[in-house]
Amino acid sequence: MSKLSPVLSRAWDDPRSYTLEGYRRHDGYQAIGKALAMPPDDVIKLVKDSGLRGRGGAGFPTGMKWSFIPQGDNKPHYLVVNADESEPGTCKDIPFLMANPHELIEGIIIACYAIRADRAFIYLRGEVVHVLRRLQAAVREAYEAGYAGKNILGSGFDLEIVVHAGAGAYICGEETALLDSLEGYRGQPRLRPPFPAIEGLYASPTVVNNVESVASVPAILRNGVDWFRSFGTEKSPGFVLYSLSGHVTRPGQYEGPLGMTLRELLDLAGGVRAGHRLKFWTPGGSSTPLLTEEHLDVPLDFEGVGAAGSMLGTRALQIFDETVCVVRTVLRWSEFYKHESCGKCTPCREGTYWYVQMLQRLESGKGTDTDLEKLLDLSDNILGRAFCALGDGATSPVTSSIQYFRDEYLEHLRSGCCPFDPALSTAWA
Ligand code: NAD
Repeated sequence: MSKLSPVLSRAWDDPRSYTLEGYRRHDGYQAIGKALAMPPDDVIKLVKDSGLRGRGGAGFPTGMKWSFIPQGDNKPHYLVVNADESEPGTCKDIPFLMANPHELIEGIIIACYAIRADRAFIYLRGEVVHVLRRLQAAVREAYEAGYAGKNILGSGFDLEIVVHAGAGAYICGEETALLDSLEGYRGQPRLRPPFPAIEGLYASPTVVNNVESVASVPAILRNGVDWFRSFGTEKSPGFVLYSLSGHVTRPGQYEGPLGMTLRELLDLAGGVRAGHRLKFWTPGGSSTPLLTEEHLDVPLDFEGVGAAGSMLGTRALQIFDETVCVVRTVLRWSEFYKHESCGKCTPCREGTYWYVQMLQRLESGKGTDTDLEKLLDLSDNILGRAFCALGDGATSPVTSSIQYFRDEYLEHLRSGCCPFDPALSTAWA
């Protein structure tokens, strides 16, 4: 039996799925009526009971996050949808938004009703202008159909939805830097606590949720908690978009229950490219520690990947075969973190700079045998000491590659150059 469970991607074969009519053809806008007929707290309870966990990477329980919003206060409440997808290898929210923008909008209406917010912002990464246009068109359609604006469907509930494009900084995917950027400041992380649920946008209670988290809510309302929990595992219920990229025969997005394994996903995707074998892979983008062939049967849920010494993250499964130099790959990622470090804290700003210096030396075979220990020492001084998750994430590929491929690092020292033929290594492509 196929383990695939198309819910979020159920309409992706319909070329007009992104229109309001297209979404309606696929059960669209059936959940809001149900939600608006319930007391807001019951909607929160339903999402809590479903066990839905944040799909942006961290897996924080969505219903619990909603329940943190204070009630009975006289501050405005906000929903901010984090559509600043930028983690290397992560490519799920962008195709989802191109195909199903109305499913996100329906989720937004339900979430705002539940947390008593009358304004929602969708913060989209600025580079994807085609997605911006599609989202803006969908929001316009929603207003015209009475799903946004004043007195939605005669319920007395008002909601304004604003689409905002960022200016292309990885740090603005960090929720507090995103809020600073949305307020018009340079995007840099804020100290947490207070978490945004207590003091977020304009110092008011704010839920910041990933696109896929919010978009999963209408299906839960339509089909119920037991149905949602019939997918995935007890602690990681539901379905997710897995993105396979790199040396795989059929790269792309595969929707399935949490807890699938890379072996199962590779079977669906035609395996590692012909004539080659798996060398290493990332479970959730480059900020999650690398795994290897020995982890092919690790369940891709928060617990399973955690027990294997990594993190589930964004389910961005980047597949690398034996032609790839791991040192060169880690150098390339480190250059990304160095470039994207916002510079606010020393461990991340200086640490990512020194990573690049040392990895360049090692990759070109000019390092010394103490460099590996220095890299690990540097990682100890970044991990847990940086201001936000960017610094921690930068350490993941470095420490995990040394854990699994120490010999390959040493081989560079012995050879005095990179032992891989640069023409064959696609890590630079
Ligand atoms: P986190 O675990 O600190 O927080 C997760 C969420 O839970 C946040 O919204 C936070 O506000 C909330 N939260 C946590 N504790 C809370 C509390 N006590 N009270 C109220 N709210 C609370 O994780 P993070 O630093 O926000 O994000 C790190 C994750 O981001 C990583 O797992 C990584 O995979 C992911 N990431 C994703 C992308 C992407 O493109 N989607 C890019 C980079 C990183």
